[in-house]
Amino acid sequence: MKQFILVILLGLLVIQGFAQKKVIKDIDREIKLTTYRSHLYFLASDELRGRNTGTIENEIAARYIAEQYRSNGIKSLPEIDTYYQQVSLIKEVSPQQAKLTIGDQSFELDDDLVFFSSTNGTFEGEVIYAGYGLEDDLEGLDIEGKLVIAKTGNGEANKRITPFTIQKQKLVAEAGGIGLIELYKPNRFPWKMIIYYFSGEKYKLDKGNAKKQNEFPSAWLKDEDGALLSFFEQAGGQVGRLEISGKNNLEIKVPNVLGMVEGTDPNLKNEYILISSHFDHLGVGNDPDDSIFNGARDNGIGVANMLTTGEYIAKHPLKRSVIFMACNAEEKGLLGSRWYADHPIIPLNQTVYNLNTDNGGYNDTEKITIIGYGRTSVNDLLVQSVEAFGMEAIDDPVPDQNLFDRSDNVSFASKGVPGVSYGPGFTSMDEEIRKYYHQPGDEPHTLDYEYLTKYTKAFTYALTLIGNYDGSITWVAGDKYEEAGKNLYGE
Ligand SMILES: [Zn+2]
Repeated sequence: MKQFILVILLGLLVIQGFAQKKVIKDIDREIKLTTYRSHLYFLASDELRGRNTGTIENEIAARYIAEQYRSNGIKSLPEIDTYYQQVSLIKEVSPQQAKLTIGDQSFELDDDLVFFSSTNGTFEGEVIYAGYGLEDDLEGLDIEGKLVIAKTGNGEANKRITPFTIQKQKLVAEAGGIGLIELYKPNRFPWKMIIYYFSGEKYKLDKGNAKKQNEFPSAWLKDEDGALLSFFEQAGGQVGRLEISGKNNLEIKVPNVLGMVEGTDPNLKNEYILISSHFDHLGVGNDPDDSIFNGARDNGIGVANMLTTGEYIAKHPLKRSVIFMACNAEEKGLLGSRWYADHPIIPLNQTVYNLNTDNGGYNDTEKITIIGYGRTSVNDLLVQSVEAFGMEAIDDPVPDQNLFDRSDNVSFASKGVPGVSYGPGFTSMDEEIRKYYHQPGDEPHTLDYEYLTKYTKAFTYALTLIGNYDGSITWVAGDKYEEAGKNLYGE
């Protein structure tokens, strides 16, 4: 009897093995380099001008993705009859003109002055120096109707200083101050870089209160040699006048592009695997030789992968349902994926796994890099998918850079959805990566399509294995997001 059972078990294993071999064969035959390459050449073309969020070219890329879904039989999600989910953003344009005068000294926008937040108008009042401008510093000071001068940060070296600015801004506003001017001594970051970060356009999710938050006049004033600090520490009582114009907050809507392939199993089809891949990039820069950030790698590779995979999955549905999501505004701070995580169309507790496809380039075509390696219960399946196509799955080579928490997958992971970012082979931050990462030279003709087609095949197989997996899909015990997962799924 025992022997009989053994024979049956072995028989089942052999059948399973054959079935897997057939899947691998199907994928190998049906995933085509020509299809993959064509998606990439379109998305990363000069005509799409870097797919910057909020531009017409970004909308053309979205339309292209939606029409690929439609032509491949990928359906729209229930309750939205298009492939689009509109993401509400605030586009904040920094002041175009500004001037600060204190007594007989005057300071100009960019040369001396940048704004952390602002609103148009003239703000005039007595200036008052308040140390770091934190709670202890402000205690006992009457700052009502005054312009508060403070040092940046809190005195501790190597701490991020902008969180303190946000804190101080709030304290000063609550105490009736009319503005906050922080003295910045350029050391770790040169002034040019500060101008770059603070000026121009910034994007935030529209949470209804974003407008108000960004309005309190709060500036950094360059204090190269500490002379201003010595001046303000001693002086006091002068009249300060801050004039701001050209500041603008625009409410805009940009699309995430979503489609789905329904599962075949009567029970498991209520569980969804979420494929995410951002399609926006950096737009156009000001290098006269080559100004377009084509974003062939970041993230043409991922979107072409998702579209090619989607075409296959539509023909070979899995037991579980699959959502394909082209995320917008990733380069603005993962905004599209964060919006979806806050406004999911399929409830997140039915979304059992997230496979993200994004990358900053590759430098090893014998490997696939899994950011989040070993952190979910289906890690063996991920490894199996890579090995089936003759490559090696490797872990994040630069854990100190915290890549897991800097890509769209974190928007879902932080809500509890287990997942990984499944990218092409990346072994270190070397010259090959730096040459293309966020550079105008990241163009479609510089890619290895043989390899990227293999990457897409492995990805499709990973999705197939997870979509048909009978076991439970969880974070591994002790993971940073395990608790969030338990809260989400109620385990
Ligand atoms: Zn990216």
